[in-house]
Amino acid sequence: MSAVPPLEPALRLAVALLHSYWVLQDPVDQLTITRLHAAGRELGLAEVTGTLTEADLPRLRELREGLYRVFAAPDPAARIATLNEVLAEVSDGTAVETAPDGTLRLTPLPHACPVGPFAAEVTGALARAAVAGGTDRFGVCAADPCRAPYLDRTRAGRQRFCCELCNNRAAAAAYRSRTRRS
Ligand SMILES: [Zn+2]
Repeated sequence: MSAVPPLEPALRLAVALLHSYWVLQDPVDQLTITRLHAAGRELGLAEVTGTLTEADLPRLRELREGLYRVFAAPDPAARIATLNEVLAEVSDGTAVETAPDGTLRLTPLPHACPVGPFAAEVTGALARAAVAGGTDRFGVCAADPCRAPYLDRTRAGRQRFCCELCNNRAAAAAYRSRTRRS
């Protein structure tokens, strides 16, 4: 049995970003800068959300999409590979590029400044959660059409649904199909 990853503020912020998109809400995409600012203030992470502006929304949606792929990846190896891809995009570092005269030079890894600290913070939180509890704890809700990502923090680590509501919906659907057959 793997350890339960601690619910640190940065992890809650990552979940807030991920859950801003949900097919069962109207509108499905409720990501706004105002909501992220509020979440940052609430979680004591105002310094990583405070600099975000409306202009960052497209990049934040991309980040959300990238992080979602970590949860939806088919197996642990794919989850780690996907997480590393996002980490490489968002964390500070340098890359080698070819200058116009053909020589090689160091260049900062491309990331837009305002989204940078936020992206590094939330992606880093998922990396720490993966190390603490293993990637088997990353999953997407088994209740159609939900597919919301969840990080399993139950002791047994056998969560299949994102929330109680989906759990109940799935149980009711299974009950209906059982009684229909009999
Ligand atoms: Zn669900």
